[in-house]
Amino acid sequence: MDIDEFRERGKEMIDYICEFVSTIKDRRVTPDLEPGFLKPMLPSEAPMDPESWDDIMKDVENKIVPGLVFWQHPHFHAYFPTGNSFPSLLGDILCDAMGCIGFSWASSPSCTELETIVLDWYGKFDFHFLITTATIIIQGSASDCIFVAMVAARDHTIARLKEKPEYAHLDETALLGKLVAYCSTQSHSCVEKGARVSFFTLRLLEPDEHSSLRGATLEQAIEADVAAGLIPFFVSTTLGTTGSCAFDKLTEIGPVCRKYEGIWFHVDGAYGGSSFICPEFRYLMAGLEYADSFNTNPNKFMLTNFDCSCLWVRDRTKVIKALVVDPIYLEHPNEESAIDYRNWSLPLSRRFRSLKLWFVMRNYGISGLQAYIRNHVKLAKHFEALVKKDSRFEVVNDVLLGLVCFRVKGTDDFNKEFLLNINDSGKLHMVPAVINGQYIIRFCVTTPHATAEDVGKIDNLFITLTNFTHISLYCPRHQAKDFKKL
Ligand code: PLP
Repeated sequence: MDIDEFRERGKEMIDYICEFVSTIKDRRVTPDLEPGFLKPMLPSEAPMDPESWDDIMKDVENKIVPGLVFWQHPHFHAYFPTGNSFPSLLGDILCDAMGCIGFSWASSPSCTELETIVLDWYGKFDFHFLITTATIIIQGSASDCIFVAMVAARDHTIARLKEKPEYAHLDETALLGKLVAYCSTQSHSCVEKGARVSFFTLRLLEPDEHSSLRGATLEQAIEADVAAGLIPFFVSTTLGTTGSCAFDKLTEIGPVCRKYEGIWFHVDGAYGGSSFICPEFRYLMAGLEYADSFNTNPNKFMLTNFDCSCLWVRDRTKVIKALVVDPIYLEHPNEESAIDYRNWSLPLSRRFRSLKLWFVMRNYGISGLQAYIRNHVKLAKHFEALVKKDSRFEVVNDVLLGLVCFRVKGTDDFNKEFLLNINDSGKLHMVPAVINGQYIIRFCVTTPHATAEDVGKIDNLFITLTNFTHISLYCPRHQAKDFKKL
């Protein structure tokens, strides 16, 4: 493809995207397909000769699009939102066209400097008390952010212990065997994965009846481990848990972390963190001032396309010490005075992600982002009110942001059937969680362009949903497909 064809095809692609976005509501939310559906439709080998762009796009439309789950569909209510907006899309297109890999200041100074400036804007607005001392970086995902915090904490703790006479006889492996980290059973699974690959013990603690981890529970676990000769070193908490958007009690947990020497206190606000852009939700972050590190994903709840996950670290030297490796080909003359983000993350190569975040912040303005978040919360509150009014259902979480957790009053098996039938219908999509030992259904507001009219749409959606209580009673899942015809 030469530049003239690119100019033409690029315009066509924008048209295709606009059509895709504006007709998405007419599609099934989830595909009705079996695993392996694509293989018979595509050749088993890559083409030896070039193919025409028209043929490629025909296959996109006829073979690929039918196998998508439409995450931007107005009736997609699963997981958390995945950020999506036109300024962000344009940012990604430009990033890909510029094609810079800004791992160090020298490798592309604007990539580094814009990232610092945009994150400074973001931090100043939301997390001003963290920003004075902290360092911020965009990572690929919340899992990466938490893993980097864990690795920095582990490295720092081992270095600290090696200085102590009582541990001088132990090598790094023996010290690692003594390290213990803590999180709640409601923490995201990436905390468990990070601990597993980092080779330290992780204790999963029971939260309270609001799914919130409490200081006393943490302190009890720490005391028991200290008494057993182990070394507590890392606590990961959540502001906006995946299951029910619960908020751990940082005001209790922070002081516990401070009481015991050397405990790194991490806060995961992957979804909930973006809400603090609205002053009225900042009460939810009380206690964040104790944190050693904090992450939030603009690519979830701030209209920025994946990937864009921000990590604040109070003391950057701890991250750099853990991650720096200096081969000669990466040296440059400005190392002393400039930031090299490669030393703050696992991958070397980095996309110019700050470009899309900058576009989003400028094009929406803080007020536009606040309006977006407020609309989501308003729609969730409206859905909550509908569920509460219907005696067949119960709401099972504190609806604080855009997530409503509910269930049909009945057995877990009935609720499973109910959800499977809903998802099989292709009309809307939700996923389950287990809260306080019960199977529950998560309804998350995800639409990028929520408006006042969406309140009426939620009313209709709730009626659709209530019909499935009937279907689930009489239609076990293996017959569910028959009901789609009704
Ligand atoms: N933390 C929380 C609270 C989440 O909800 C999620 C994902 O939804 C994650 C971490 C993991 O996010 P990522 O996919 O960016 O690694």
